[in-house]
Amino acid sequence: MAYLEPAPIKDKENPFESMMSRFHTAAHKLGLDDETYEILKSPTKQVIVTLPITMDDGSKKVFEGYRVIHSNTLGPSKGGIRYDPDVSLDEVKALAAWMTWKCAVVDIPYGGAKGGIRCKPWTMSAGELERLTRAYTVSMYEIFGPDLDIPAPDMGTGPREMAWLMDEYSKANGKTVSAVVTGKPLVLGGSLGRVEATGRGVMVSSLVAMEKLKINPAHAKCAVQGFGNVGSNAASLLEDRGVKIIAISDHTGAYISEKGIDIKAAIEFKNKNNGTLEGFELGDKISNEELIELDVDLLVPAAKEDVITLKNAQNIKAKLIVEGANGPTGAKADPVIFDKGITVVPDILANAGGVTVSYFEWVQNRLGYKWTQERVNRRCDRIMKDAFEKVFKISEKYNVSMRIAAYMVAISKVADTYKLRGGY
Ligand code: GLU
Repeated sequence: MAYLEPAPIKDKENPFESMMSRFHTAAHKLGLDDETYEILKSPTKQVIVTLPITMDDGSKKVFEGYRVIHSNTLGPSKGGIRYDPDVSLDEVKALAAWMTWKCAVVDIPYGGAKGGIRCKPWTMSAGELERLTRAYTVSMYEIFGPDLDIPAPDMGTGPREMAWLMDEYSKANGKTVSAVVTGKPLVLGGSLGRVEATGRGVMVSSLVAMEKLKINPAHAKCAVQGFGNVGSNAASLLEDRGVKIIAISDHTGAYISEKGIDIKAAIEFKNKNNGTLEGFELGDKISNEELIELDVDLLVPAAKEDVITLKNAQNIKAKLIVEGANGPTGAKADPVIFDKGITVVPDILANAGGVTVSYFEWVQNRLGYKWTQERVNRRCDRIMKDAFEKVFKISEKYNVSMRIAAYMVAISKVADTYKLRGGY
């Protein structure tokens, strides 16, 4: 193949380059032709908008908003909106591409997209966040649509922001358009099970992987890095299945208890404590770096990109890593982890429960019908298990990591669809 190696990865890994390096490896294994390689790697559309917002004190502040549509080959593009100070075009580009691969791995009829606004949501009032969300929606009016591009929550956003987005988009349309966004509050057409869905998918993937590795969940020890929506729900659902969660963490630090942390108590503490674990006393305080290197069976990184790096990969003791976050392992760390014989259930598989139930929400909105929680969970679990088995088989057949196998599954699906649809 003639295509060049992607740019070398620098010290602090650039998420887009990290994504590209796996894409490159998987494309090679598949023998992907040059033209398709070029087409699949390039985002379809990248939009940057300026959002001047009146703050509560009367001043105006200018924010930058992004939406990247990586692909709409499999269907309308799908992906969350992130509010975070680290949001950049490169990050959103990587996250958008991961959505393409994720939707393809779980075989749902969506392409991939991602949005973001560079801001510190925790320093902003509800009124400021509402104005920001509505301004962003208006700027993206031409981009969003139930058959075009369907946003959802991501880091720093949740059902509240999705309600504002749905309302603003609907106003401009002169009618309620529920299916333009997923992850809405239940009363506005949200789906039962959506809030826990990503954590649930992490739990299901962890249990299937433990079965393959012959780890008994009832004797397993687990550390969860990140205690937001994904980490807290994954921890709670794993706890319900007998896994002992010995450490949890958020940006205030990590907390360890060898006899197991009471996750329900930790969630209650966090909810009463401004959303943080600061001052949590049911565990001893350690650093986030120490948590990553704990001697556990299962490690669930469920916060941000690049927490497992070339620096700490060698010290990781977990037998199994299940990626609740998007991109928590840098590409440089991949070979080290693989050589150590650690099984990694990659992000584009492990955290796909969220977008899967988003898909169910969109289907329910379009049908004007509501599924039971039981139906949502059962279908989500089945999709997660089927996708796991498919990826696992490819990893065995080609003797590659589950990450490369997941990319191979995704790339071949998008490539085949692209070829059937044809280009110009
Ligand atoms: N932001 C979530 C993700 O990264 C969910 C996306 C969605 O539901 O569309 O998978």
